[in-house]
Amino acid sequence: MLLQISEPNSTENVARERKRGLGIDLGTTNSLVATKSEGGADVITDVSGARLVPSVVNFTGVVTVGTSALESAVSDVRNTVVSAKRFMGRSRHDLNDQQLLGLTTSDPLAFDTDDGPKTPVEVSSEILRSLAARARQSLDETEDGVVITVPAYFDDRQRQATRQAAELADLNVLRLLNEPTAAAIAYGLDETIAESSVVAVYDLGGGTFDISILRMERGLLRVLATGGDTALGGDDFDEIIVRWMLDQWGLDSMTRDQHRQLAMMARAVKEQLSESPEVSIVATGELAHLDDLLLTRETFTLLAETLIQRTLKACDQTLDDAGRSEVAHVVLVGGSTRMPIIREAVAKHFNLEPLCSINPDEVVALGAALQADILVGNGDGDEALLLDVIPLSLGLETYGGLIEKIIPRNAVLPLAKAQEFTTAKDGQTGLVVHVLQGERERVEDCRSLARFELNGIPPMVAGAARILVTFKVDADGLLEVSAREEITGTEAALVVKPSFGLSDDEVASMLRASQTNAAEDMQARQLREAKVEAESLLHGLIGALEADGDLLSDEERAALETEASGLVQALASDDTEFIRALTDQLGQASLTFAERRMDRSIKSALSGVAVSELDSAD
Ligand code: AMP
Repeated sequence: MLLQISEPNSTENVARERKRGLGIDLGTTNSLVATKSEGGADVITDVSGARLVPSVVNFTGVVTVGTSALESAVSDVRNTVVSAKRFMGRSRHDLNDQQLLGLTTSDPLAFDTDDGPKTPVEVSSEILRSLAARARQSLDETEDGVVITVPAYFDDRQRQATRQAAELADLNVLRLLNEPTAAAIAYGLDETIAESSVVAVYDLGGGTFDISILRMERGLLRVLATGGDTALGGDDFDEIIVRWMLDQWGLDSMTRDQHRQLAMMARAVKEQLSESPEVSIVATGELAHLDDLLLTRETFTLLAETLIQRTLKACDQTLDDAGRSEVAHVVLVGGSTRMPIIREAVAKHFNLEPLCSINPDEVVALGAALQADILVGNGDGDEALLLDVIPLSLGLETYGGLIEKIIPRNAVLPLAKAQEFTTAKDGQTGLVVHVLQGERERVEDCRSLARFELNGIPPMVAGAARILVTFKVDADGLLEVSAREEITGTEAALVVKPSFGLSDDEVASMLRASQTNAAEDMQARQLREAKVEAESLLHGLIGALEADGDLLSDEERAALETEASGLVQALASDDTEFIRALTDQLGQASLTFAERRMDRSIKSALSGVAVSELDSAD
């Protein structure tokens, strides 16, 4: 079921004031803030025109953020925090000894500064605060809400930590948006591509490579799979140029300082090669005695071949993980995708022109700004398209260990749906509401989210009780399940977080499992249903024989018992058809008995009861 959220009557909106939304790319090295502008989105600069804010915070009594904090990164290492993003939502046991350096030994995880311990959330909140201040100053107004981007592979704890950082900075978070999705939105793909189209977002930064596979589903770009290499980035391309220079000069060793100097040179050469077909390298300082070198794009292409192939292999692997082979668009993100050799290799590999017209350092923030503008309420009425969806179906365990789906996967949030259930056994006074997530048919193949009991159901025959189970999911994906017995009004409810602990990768793999196992699951479901039906018939028959056995002659009773024991034996097998056939047979055989019982019960109900009492007689 879809609940479309549409704008209030559009005529009333004509004079509505435009709201201000901000898009924030909270990066490991640099962060940016952008906002919607005429016909697009713009990065907001500081007074000196700088676009990027280094994600660095210095704590020495006063807090400084960005370029000024970066300046103290070398002189005041202890009080300067860099790369806080890597620690968001992490605990001590997630980190290695190297990463634990400079952190306090107590919980929660914090950076040890003269200003006291600073948690990654606090550090990030300072960066967010500074970005918001920059925007407010530049725009001369306070924003109504922000969209903050996070890596697609961020788990729930990391996302939660990001939200906390924003709350600490007093920001109104409209949504956390996956970075690759933001990039695709910046290119307008959320509005232009066809349903089911697949987009690959190739993100090559300074130190990491990320590949994300998105798919258009019901007007929403969903992350199907993520992959990449956390130790492959622009720095490695610098390093191969360093190696080449040493090789050319016939040097095989160097000091750390020399290496750092050469790496800086190499980086400049690499970046120049993005503009010109060849770059001459003039050795200076300590290395001035060495020959000048000429590096051509052709040579660089050969040198970089292995690195590029590694990224493409990761692309294929991730596409495979997503269960896809066709890609409609490739979006390039990250400073290193400015290299023409990358663009050419990607174009050739996917056999299509990659989208790279937007500055690859800014594309994520720009996409977030467009999304923020719509979420803040400046949209044109298509808002429902931008709401989140349920990644995996939600349902309940029913009799026989089967799952009954209540909310289908991809239903748009927020939503509510109710379904009526009943008891499986005579006199049943309680039931367990077992909430499950997944696409498979059997309980053991789905993910258990929560379990609660509804007690106090008045004893009734099986199938007579009416239990209304309601699933409500709010815009943040919080699920509330309630069960209410309609006769007594007895109620029980529970709140669960369905996405908790499930990464997009896990969602993708659960989906793949459901596709791969669909046929098998269907058979299993049919078998279970056949067994449940057979069991309930047997159960009913035993009760009936006990109560009204005298209605049958000995031969009739013996014949029924033979049929019944045949079915009991069949139940031990996994032969759905056989169980069904014997169930039908027993059902037919007991028809006469059922009719006689019906007659008897009507007669007994009517005998000696005044007409006025009939309603309350049971
Ligand atoms: P990012 O982490 O996305 O900021 O990317 C930084 C990386 O992009 C560094 O390795 C830079 O050397 C690289 N980069 C930036 N501009 C260029 C360029 N014009 N050509 C090649 N690499 C670049």
